[in-house]
Amino acid sequence: MIKNTIFSKIISHEIYADILYQDDLVTAFRDILPQAPKHILIIPNQVIPTINDVKPEHENILGRMIISASTIAKQEGISKDGYRLIINCNGHAGQEVYHIHMHLLGGRVLGPLLVR
Ligand code: AMP
Repeated sequence: MIKNTIFSKIISHEIYADILYQDDLVTAFRDILPQAPKHILIIPNQVIPTINDVKPEHENILGRMIISASTIAKQEGISKDGYRLIINCNGHAGQEVYHIHMHLLGGRVLGPLLVR
């Protein structure tokens, strides 16, 4: 059974988040504990717990997530300098919320991809 998380309440505006963008497929809002000057989460409006649960019919949702990231990066003024998109999956990656979310991080030099 697919469980709702706190992100469902953000999508439905039951709890506050600084929402930058929302359409029929995705919602984007600022991360509550930013790891960089710009840290935005882009999530599907439909609950998909992890990348392992992605199916061919989700292709349009995943495409919209990337297109939204590109648009938001331009709006936030970080597209030229660059930014990073990350999706964590399960325990080894440190996934905390089981509703797919893409981190958009930028606004400074981000350094190596992984801590050694
Ligand atoms: P992950 O570790 O990839 O599952 O990332 C979960 C992210 O969700 C973390 O960066 C949290 O800071 C963020 N987060 C959790 N709750 C909220 C919330 N209510 N509003 C905004 N961001 C949140």
